[in-house]
Amino acid sequence: MPRDTTRRKRGTGEALRIGVVGAGISGLTFAAAMRRLSPATNVELYERDESATSRRQGYSLGLKGDAGLTVKTLDLYDLLAKEAITITNFVICDQRGARLLEYLRREG
Ligand SMILES: Cc1cc2nc3c(=O)[nH]c(=O)nc-3n(C[C@H](O)[C@H](O)[C@H](O)COP(=O)(O)OP(=O)(O)OC[C@H]3O[C@@H](n4cnc5c(N)ncnc54)[C@H](O)[C@@H]3O)c2cc1C
Repeated sequence: MPRDTTRRKRGTGEALRIGVVGAGISGLTFAAAMRRLSPATNVELYERDESATSRRQGYSLGLKGDAGLTVKTLDLYDLLAKEAITITNFVICDQRGARLLEYLRREG
């Protein structure tokens, strides 16, 4: 029999209601994790932007460190890996194009 992972209000046995403010990557990841790990817990997600295109977004999604483990736990790794590219060269310039920081893969 599967273990009941529903989060409950202490002393009442009632399923917990959790409000998540902000549907950025943190809020969405938390909500997705709760849905997977504790499906009966009531998670409500609140976002002030009207849509995903209400304001400009970044050009990429960088996942470092523990983020890989998190997406594996949520079974999203293969899906993301299909769309991902490995960045080998990275340069940050000032407004005149002068190089401030660069990471270039060494050949050989
Ligand atoms: C200019 C810039 C460019 C970036 N480019 C990249 C990039 O290309 N790749 C990358 O990986 N990272 C990039 N980052 C970093 C990345 O944006 C953050 O690491 C990431 O967005 C943090 O996620 P978060 O969910 O914690 O917060 P956010 O993404 O900031 O999400 C918080 C959400 O909460 C909502 N919110 C806030 N207050 C309320 C409220 N009171 N009620 C309802 N909703 C609310 C906001 O509208 C927002 O949608 C960039 C950051 C900046 C500033």
